[in-house]
Amino acid sequence: MNAAFIQDELKALHNASLYRRLRSVAGEQDAVLTVDGRQVLNFCSNNYLGFANHPALREAAKQAIDRYGCGSGASRLISGNMTLHEELESKIAELKGTEAALVFNSGFQANTGVIPVLVGEGDLILSDALNHASIIDGCRLSRAKVAVYGHGDLDELEQRLRNALPKGRKLIVTESLFSMDGDEAPLTDIVGLAEQYDAMVMVDEAHATGVYEPDGAGIVAKLGLGEHVLVQMGTLGKALGGFGAYVAGSKGLRELLINRCRSFIFTTSLPPAVMAMGIAAIDLVRRQPERRQELWNNCERLRKGLSELGYSLGNSHSQILPLMIGDATQCMKLSQDLLERGVFAQGIRPPTVPAGTSRLRITLMATHSCEHIDKALQVFKEVAQELRLVDGK
Ligand code: PMP
Repeated sequence: MNAAFIQDELKALHNASLYRRLRSVAGEQDAVLTVDGRQVLNFCSNNYLGFANHPALREAAKQAIDRYGCGSGASRLISGNMTLHEELESKIAELKGTEAALVFNSGFQANTGVIPVLVGEGDLILSDALNHASIIDGCRLSRAKVAVYGHGDLDELEQRLRNALPKGRKLIVTESLFSMDGDEAPLTDIVGLAEQYDAMVMVDEAHATGVYEPDGAGIVAKLGLGEHVLVQMGTLGKALGGFGAYVAGSKGLRELLINRCRSFIFTTSLPPAVMAMGIAAIDLVRRQPERRQELWNNCERLRKGLSELGYSLGNSHSQILPLMIGDATQCMKLSQDLLERGVFAQGIRPPTVPAGTSRLRITLMATHSCEHIDKALQVFKEVAQELRLVDGK
């Protein structure tokens, strides 16, 4: 077979400034990273609370390996359903205030698997324009009709709900804290519309889990909307520092997913060490509210400093700060210039974000010190002047 298309496609990606390459991180995931052999300040990790190398998670994982071994050996429905999976699920349900929870091997697998269980041919999905790729793929796999509404646009959402055919199920799916923009969905209003038009609601809390009060349970819990959201999905690999994902909801939902969800059924279950990390992380997140406070203090310091430098940060009030650039080439140049000066902030381009909205996605961690942030601000000031990124500063 002629495989020339591989080189053609790579060339096209280079030409459009959309080529991606892997960077190599040596050592631990922390506020300071060794990237491609150089020490840099890490401003692009989702390890928001610094749990990824926390002693409590390390110890839990070691003990689980000593007690249960390394692999789970099979999928959950065969012989891979270990007591640790169920223990973690109880902890998640308790944290989220739901009847039940089910662990998934990743957030990507959760979203692509769960949506096709909820809706199928003849049904309608209403999906926020900035939803994550895994939600988009889940929608596609479901074969339901997908109506994409403008980001957080309640008028458009209502119009589409009003126009929906009376037959068939309706599902509204949205992130609670958007991964690339750091802004929140108008969840209370979305839930109100869902009740009015008899639609189900699924919320992806990947970036809110661990970060929002109460106890790091997420934005659905913060707003007291748990009763009205059929599916709360989140990840264990971001603020919670480990790996894997969960779906929280009713006992019936859990049972249905165990029976129908292909990405749950047909995959080897997560290993004991990963479950133990999840359990330790949930205990820690509930016990240490000060970690969240440290994260918020850091967000405030960096946001204020970047705004004073004249950078545009969109509508974010969270630990995810999108520094808007627009053009993909300029965005990657900025990212490279920052890296050369010791600040690692990843440039985000299409298809991750819509064309013309390339940005640096800057993320904060509880473990950044004031010195780390001030050093980064100094570098942002230098590059802003050199690249003429901000007016008159
Ligand atoms: N949903 C959102 C909003 C995400 O940002 C991500 C990960 N980037 C996922 C789902 C997928 O989660 P995981 O990394 O556990 O596959």
